[in-house]
Amino acid sequence: MIEQKKAIQADKQYKEINFEVHYIRHLTDTTYVVRFDRNEMHFIPGQHLSVGLANDPQAREYSIYNSNNDNFLEILVKEVDDGIVSKRLKKVKPGDQLKVTGPMGFFKLDAKTINSRKHLFVATGTGISPFHAFVKSYPQLDYQLIHGVRKSEEAYERSEYKNSNYTLCSSRDKKGDYNGRTTDFLRSQKIDPSTLVYLCGNCDMIFEVYDILTEKGIPTENIHTEVYF
Ligand SMILES: Cc1cc2nc3c(=O)[nH]c(=O)nc-3n(C[C@H](O)[C@H](O)[C@H](O)COP(=O)(O)OP(=O)(O)OC[C@H]3O[C@@H](n4cnc5c(N)ncnc54)[C@H](O)[C@@H]3O)c2cc1C
Repeated sequence: MIEQKKAIQADKQYKEINFEVHYIRHLTDTTYVVRFDRNEMHFIPGQHLSVGLANDPQAREYSIYNSNNDNFLEILVKEVDDGIVSKRLKKVKPGDQLKVTGPMGFFKLDAKTINSRKHLFVATGTGISPFHAFVKSYPQLDYQLIHGVRKSEEAYERSEYKNSNYTLCSSRDKKGDYNGRTTDFLRSQKIDPSTLVYLCGNCDMIFEVYDILTEKGIPTENIHTEVYF
């Protein structure tokens, strides 16, 4: 409740402020990280922002990618074919101004169990973004991260995760840890029913994985989801 109140206050507070771009980091031809001013924003890892260019009516939601210990904000963005904002953000340069509102959302870890429970994170594509924020913000976290991509080059900043905690499922090449879809990998896995599971990415993956998990006996209250599109 208190966190919800803080998020709402923050939303009001940041509406009128511009956020200056520090730089853009291109990870593949179509995926990039934009770093910009934090302006002392309070956020909880897992939350998202609404981001667009200053003086542009268009804005979209993006999960915060960085740790809440950093003095900047980052978002990880995939350029969408025929998309509007993801194409515009790809062209930003240092010094450009962004319009940012938020933070928003309730996709976050339970503060009471962060250091005592096992966590399973399942992402497709840029859905890895809030999990990067979790891992960087909570160094003691007991987690396994399963990242589903088409090609292994989409293992965005893989070196940020311990090798033993990260599984890349690549469906269109054999360079991942598993050649195939995330859902097929998960079907083959034993999962302790007390694990707290977080799913982020496209809705097809989320629906399918939700069914796999419930069939495996994971209680629905242990499954948390963030749908991007
Ligand atoms: C809570 C939330 C958090 C999000 N966080 C992120 C994030 O961290 N990184 C990120 O890249 N995106 C994220 N998204 C998606 C993002 O908000 C935009 O939808 C996306 O950038 C496309 O915007 P656009 O203006 O370029 O395209 P639009 O013109 O708005 O949409 C074009 C079409 O692309 C589809 N689409 C959206 N995203 C994708 C995708 N990744 N791949 C294929 N098709 C897509 C839309 O459904 C739509 O049909 C998030 C969405 C939500 C709801």
